[in-house]
Amino acid sequence: MINLLSEETIDQIAAGEVVERPASAVKEMCENAIDAGATMISVEIKEGGISFIRVTDNGIGIDKSDIKKAFLRHATSKITCIDDLLSLESLGFRGEALSSIAAVSQMEVISKQKDSLVGTRFVINGSVPGDTSEIGAPDGTTFIVRNLFYNTPVRRKFLKSASTEGSYITDVMEHLALSHPEIAFSYINGGKTQLQTSGRGDLKEVIYRIYGKEVTSNLIEINSPGVSGFVAKPIMVRNNRSFETFFVNGRFVKSSILSNALEEAYKPYLMQHKFPFAILHLNLAGSDVDANVHPTKMEVRFSDNNAVYNNLCDAVKDALNAREMIFEAKLNDIHSVQDEKEVKDTPEAEDDQVVKKVQGEQTYSVPKPERERPALPFEKTRVLMETAKYDAHIEADEELSQIMKPKQLDLFEERILTKEARDEYRILGQAFLTYWIVEYRDKLLIMDQHAAHEKVLYERFRKNIRENEIISQQIMPPRIISFDSRQEDVFKRFESYFVSVGFEIEEFGGGEYAVRALPELFKGVDFGDVLTEILDNLLEEEAKLTRNVDQISEQVNDRIATMACKAAVKGNNKMSIAEVEALLDELLTLDNPYNCPHGRPTMITMTKYELEKKFKRII
Ligand code: ADP
Ligand code: MG
Repeated sequence: MINLLSEETIDQIAAGEVVERPASAVKEMCENAIDAGATMISVEIKEGGISFIRVTDNGIGIDKSDIKKAFLRHATSKITCIDDLLSLESLGFRGEALSSIAAVSQMEVISKQKDSLVGTRFVINGSVPGDTSEIGAPDGTTFIVRNLFYNTPVRRKFLKSASTEGSYITDVMEHLALSHPEIAFSYINGGKTQLQTSGRGDLKEVIYRIYGKEVTSNLIEINSPGVSGFVAKPIMVRNNRSFETFFVNGRFVKSSILSNALEEAYKPYLMQHKFPFAILHLNLAGSDVDANVHPTKMEVRFSDNNAVYNNLCDAVKDALNAREMIFEAKLNDIHSVQDEKEVKDTPEAEDDQVVKKVQGEQTYSVPKPERERPALPFEKTRVLMETAKYDAHIEADEELSQIMKPKQLDLFEERILTKEARDEYRILGQAFLTYWIVEYRDKLLIMDQHAAHEKVLYERFRKNIRENEIISQQIMPPRIISFDSRQEDVFKRFESYFVSVGFEIEEFGGGEYAVRALPELFKGVDFGDVLTEILDNLLEEEAKLTRNVDQISEQVNDRIATMACKAAVKGNNKMSIAEVEALLDELLTLDNPYNCPHGRPTMITMTKYELEKKFKRII
C-alpha cells in the first residue's frame, strides 16, 4: 500500500536536513535576525540548547498578519523566484528554517514592528499552530524553542551530551560574531555570559573576545580587493585546520579551495602538518557564488575556482611578505638545564629537523619530537566576559591597544634582516657546530647554519628553474641505481619534472636506471638515496597534489627542491667566517629569509635588554 505522507510527517523529515541539532536552530534563527537588519542579537541557551533556546533581536519584526505564514514550509520574504539568488543579499532564502524547527519543538515567537503599538505572540507546537495574541513588547523579534526533538525520539537520541551540544552552539556564535562585527552579540550558556561583542564593527575586537590576547597581538591585517580580515603570524601555528575561518559574503563556509589557497600562501613559513590561523572575509559578486548547494548553506560553489584561489593566495602572500618573520627568543624562556637534558636524551636531537631551542610561550614554529611537545600556547581560549570589564573596555579604547601590543610586535616591525642592516652585523662565532651568533645593535641574532644554508640553496635552485637556467652536472661513468616497482611507477609518471630540474636518467631494464646527470645542487650528495626518498615522498603525497596543471609542476619541483636541499646541507658542519659572511649576504637577498623550506626559522633574536634583565642589571 502506498501512503501519502501527512504535512506533519513531511515537515519532520525535511526538518532533519535543516535542523540537525540545537546549534543549527540557533544558526538559522540568528541568520534570520541578521537578515531582519538587527544591530543587537542575544542568545540564551539551557542544557546545550536541547531544553531551551531564546534568540532576541532588534530587527524589523514580523507583521501580525504574517506571523503564522512565516512558519509554513517555503515561506520566505527574501526571494520570489530563482533568479533572485543571483543578487542574493540575505543569508536565508529557502523559507524552511522556521517550519523545520517548529516541526520538531515547542516554539513561541513574540514580535513587534516599529510602527505597531503592540506586539504579537504566537505559539506553535510540533507544527500545530496555537493562538495568536497581543502582547506588549520591544521592537524586534524573540523566538523561544523548547524541547527540541521532543516528538522525534530517534533524532533526540542522536544528540550528544548537553555540554557538547552547547559547544557546537558556541562555535556557531563565534562564527556569527566574526562574520558580523557590526552587530552586538551576547551569548549566555547556562546562565553564564560566554561571548559578548560591542557591535562597533571592529573585527579585531571580536577576535580578541574569542581567541584572547596572544592571538590578537600576533595578527597581520589583510586588506585586498575582495579579501579582508586577519591572519596570524606564522609563530601561531596550529595543529589542525579548525582555525582557518572563512566567510563568503558574510556567510560562514567550509571550502577546501579556500583552505588550500591559504595554506599555499603560508607554505614557506610552516612545517608540514601545521596550519595557519586566519579569519578571512571574501566578497564576491552574487553571480559568482552559489550558496544553494545544501540546506545548511555551509558549502558554496564558485563560478571561477581558480580566480578565487589565486586572489586569496596572493592577498595572504602579499601580507606575509611585507612582514619581518623573525623569531624572538626570550631569555627567561630559554631552556633550563633540565630541558637541555631532555633534549640530549632525545635520539632525534642531532637530526637537523629538530631544533634544540624551546622558544618560550609564543614561538612554537620550532618542532620538537612529538612526544615531548608542550601544550600549544593558545588552545582556543574562550573569553569569559564579566560585564564590568566589558563596559570598561568599550570606554577605555586605549587600554585595549595596550593589551594587544606586547613588545614582540615592536620587534616584528623593525627590519633586522635587510641589506641595510647587514653592514652593522658583527659575526661573533659559532656554537655547537650549528649556530652562528651575530651582534646587531642591541640584539643578538642566532642563525641556524643548516636552515639558512638550506634556504639559500633552495631559493637558488627554484630561481634557476623559474628562469630556465638549470645547471646540470654530468657524471662519468653513469651511476646505476635500482627502483622497486612502486618507485619505478612514480618515476615514470613524474619523469618530465625530473628532467626539467636537471636530471638525466635512463631506463636500463629490470628496475635499474642509469643516472647520467644531476642538478648541480646535488654535488657531493649521496644522491641514490635522495632520489628514492623523493620518489617515496611523491608516492605518499600524490593524493595531496593539486589537480591544477598550472600548479602541479610548481608543487613537484618544490618537493624535489626541498629534499635535495636538505640532503645537500646534511652533515656539512664546518664553515669558515668568510663562508658565513657569504651565506648571510645571499640570505638577505631573498624575499623571505626568515624560514627554511620546511618552515623552520633561519634566525632567532635575543635582546640586550633580556640579557641585562637576566644578569639583574635591570630589575
Ligand atoms: P528564510 O530565512 O529562508 O526566508 P525562514 O523559515 O528562516 O526562511 O524564515 C521565514 C520568514 O520569516 C523570513 O523570510 C522572514 O520574513 C520571517 N522572519 C523569520 N525570522 C525573523 C526575524 N527574526 N525578524 C523578522 N522576520 C523574520
Ligand atoms: Mg532563515
